[in-house]
Amino acid sequence: MKKLSGNEIRKMWLAFFKEKGHHIEKGASLIPYNDPTLLWINSGVAALKKYMDGSEVPPSRRITNVQKSIRTNDMDKVGYTSRHHTFFEMLGCFSIGDYFRKEIIEWAYEILTSERWFAMDKDKLYFTYNPLDLDTRDNWLKQGVSPDHLIALEGNYWQIGEGPCGPNTEVFYDRGEKYDPDHLGIKLLEDEIENDRYIEIWGIVFSQYNAQAGVDRKDFKELPSKNIDTGAGLERIASILQETDSNFETDLFMPLIKETEKHANVGYGEKTKTPYRVIADHIRSLTFAISDGASFSNEGRGYVLRRLLRRASRFAKKIGINEAFLYKLVDVVIDINKDFYPELATNSASIKKAIKIEEEKFLKTLSSGESLLREFIAGKKVLNGKDAFKLYDTFGFPLELTKEICHEEGVEVDEKGFEEEMNAQKERARNARSDEQSMHKQSKDLLDFNLPSEFDYSGSNLIAHVIGVFKDGVKVDEITSEGEVIFDKTNFYAESGGQVSDKGEIRNSSTFAEVTEVIKAPNKEHLHTVKVMKGSIKVGDEFLLEINKEARELTKRNHSATHLLQSALNEVLGGDIKQMGSYVDSEYLRFDFTYPTKITEEELNSIEELVNKWISDSIKGDIEVLPIEEANKLGAKSFFSEKYGDYVRVVSFGDISKEFCGGTHVSNTLEIGSFVIESEESIASGVRRIIARSSLNAYKLVKERLAILDNVAKTLGTKSIYEIDKKLASTLANEAKSKHENSVLLDKLAHQVASGLLSKFESANGYELLIAKLDENDLSFLNKIGDDLKSVKTNSLIVLLGVKDEVSISTMVNGEALTKGNKAGDLVKLIATHLGGSGGGRPNMANGRGKDTSKVDEAIELVKKNIK
Ligand code: ATP
Ligand code: MG
Repeated sequence: MKKLSGNEIRKMWLAFFKEKGHHIEKGASLIPYNDPTLLWINSGVAALKKYMDGSEVPPSRRITNVQKSIRTNDMDKVGYTSRHHTFFEMLGCFSIGDYFRKEIIEWAYEILTSERWFAMDKDKLYFTYNPLDLDTRDNWLKQGVSPDHLIALEGNYWQIGEGPCGPNTEVFYDRGEKYDPDHLGIKLLEDEIENDRYIEIWGIVFSQYNAQAGVDRKDFKELPSKNIDTGAGLERIASILQETDSNFETDLFMPLIKETEKHANVGYGEKTKTPYRVIADHIRSLTFAISDGASFSNEGRGYVLRRLLRRASRFAKKIGINEAFLYKLVDVVIDINKDFYPELATNSASIKKAIKIEEEKFLKTLSSGESLLREFIAGKKVLNGKDAFKLYDTFGFPLELTKEICHEEGVEVDEKGFEEEMNAQKERARNARSDEQSMHKQSKDLLDFNLPSEFDYSGSNLIAHVIGVFKDGVKVDEITSEGEVIFDKTNFYAESGGQVSDKGEIRNSSTFAEVTEVIKAPNKEHLHTVKVMKGSIKVGDEFLLEINKEARELTKRNHSATHLLQSALNEVLGGDIKQMGSYVDSEYLRFDFTYPTKITEEELNSIEELVNKWISDSIKGDIEVLPIEEANKLGAKSFFSEKYGDYVRVVSFGDISKEFCGGTHVSNTLEIGSFVIESEESIASGVRRIIARSSLNAYKLVKERLAILDNVAKTLGTKSIYEIDKKLASTLANEAKSKHENSVLLDKLAHQVASGLLSKFESANGYELLIAKLDENDLSFLNKIGDDLKSVKTNSLIVLLGVKDEVSISTMVNGEALTKGNKAGDLVKLIATHLGGSGGGRPNMANGRGKDTSKVDEAIELVKKNIK
């Protein structure tokens, strides 16, 4: 066995598969690109879905990678098993319709056992396979694996709903008796008992069948293109090669544990394993995810981050760390991983800042959660499951703490109710995930289609020939209604890079069709969705292609304006922003980016002005197609997870902006005309969105805003909008003055009414009682009267009923009346309910409203009966 560091293992893996003819694909961002069904990249294959399902043609049919993965399903295991993480790296190799079973089994055995590579002890390796897949068993036997190291398992089959599926084989490493306290031996593996003795290190899936509903597994048809998808856990291999007790003592984690020890009041040991491991694990997830552009929020990914941080922070308390400290571990994560992931260091400051703010917020939440909990249980014997779950789920207040506090207060926690709420939520999450990993069905015809097709950026009308005709991705001879068409050349832009596709029409002497949408086919040809209005379309037909030029023109201006906006944001906000997404059509542009705080009005104005300055500077737009290395050297910006081919298109405006972009652009900034920001808002914590308009639409937006001002001027009766300021100020001052006068008058009036009522008090139960009907139902007026009375009658219970159309109720309880247990809130509820309304308040003062004026006298009797 070779004692290799984590980084050496990564490199060795890639080197091995490169030798076997694999293309090294750079690991993708943890945030799935263009895949709304997946929250996180959770395996090597998830990042390569586009190649596997045929929506894109891979650079090679053999691919190897090291892929950052996040699995939130495993969160509860983390800290308790030796081998589960929320963030881990998957070492992968993939065959996309290339080699199959024989090769991968040979290679797997070679890299694991050969002296040149990992040199693991052959006797410690075990292999599971599907009982129907004897081919796999034979192949392992051929490598020299002894039969008693081959375990047939029914469950070794990978299938999610319909579509590609197939058997799998898994590699396990036996760490020996030491990790088998009950001496169960191979039974652990055969019966799939949760254990830390046989560690699953590698899973290999043979994706060879097409699952169909209602068809028996053994009758599934073979796929046209068979794939192999494999994944091995880096941390688990490191633990085996470094002969550590668990993944956590490897060089990938140990420095984190050592750093944590400096802050804790107890060291890393048998009893404190869990908190240390949870912290080390979760800070890795947080650091990598935030570096890839995720941010804390209350939903989706952001919520996962929030849960990770809270869990880590809670476990930190268990080892005596009570203040924000997780952010201090970010540098350690970076230090461990910077050779392979240099981008971490670049993002270091913003990662630390985000984590620190969130940690401090959570520590505050803990204390406010506690007061909320105390409110929930005030005067109660049981805390219901819903409230306990609400505390946990919405406020991030841990159940254990809830239990602890309730225990001190002698309150029981309805844990069953809590479980039910929890299960309901898990069910919701499961439903959301169910088709997460299912792959699109392969559109073989589109995948196989690969003819030259050119795109003319100019947008001018064009004569072109049909080279492919499809209906829902299936090749057809002719379309007469709806379908998809590929031409030998086209002027229609296909949706990409946030820019919408062109729309337009195609025609010849016999046929006329509308083009409603254009996307890129797997081999990048532009695939036009058409609606045939007259005639038919078949291969070889000649058409005149005409795009909607007005829309293209406006879209172009918005797209170039987006590039200028990004540069202005960098300049005004200080270069700390990262693009999170964009959308451009003929109406407006939208730009999402990371930035921790709200952008001030001043900053927004500077940004808007800067873009307009660049527009009027008449800067020439340049478009170059360059080899990727050269473009990188020029410092062109790229969207965080966009992938580019070997050649890239670089769009620049002088020194102001330089970006990789395939979109359509103006040839001079003057064409943009003008630029106006419409709105700025937060869409997740740490992510802002700007919506803006350019050209004629910017002008229209300004006109719309002016029209509102014109209307205001008219309402205020001023001659022009320039006088609005002054007029509004004096109108508001007048209003405040009348309000004040009004209230003085009302006070006087209330005082008069109150004086009249003083003689109406009766004595009751040791205090004075007044129940009075008035013919004015303004609540604040009733309250003024009540306040006035209360200042004289300090030992009293006052109920005022204002009867006019409806009934308003004002009740005040003081002195002895209060001590006797009368509560204003309860009395008002009683009256209001009787009158078909509602109300409530504090024990000494409450308000309510009722509808049924005919029952007022009854209500008065009810009060009399109920006072104490
Ligand atoms: P397990 O049964 O151990 O949870 P799995 O069957 O979910 O693993 P696969 O989906 O087959 O795992 O993933 C391939 C490999 O990735 C595994 O063999 C393992 O080495 C690694 N792996 C999977 N999940 C985790 C995790 N949560 N933490 C660390 N490594 C993991
Ligand atoms: Mg498995």
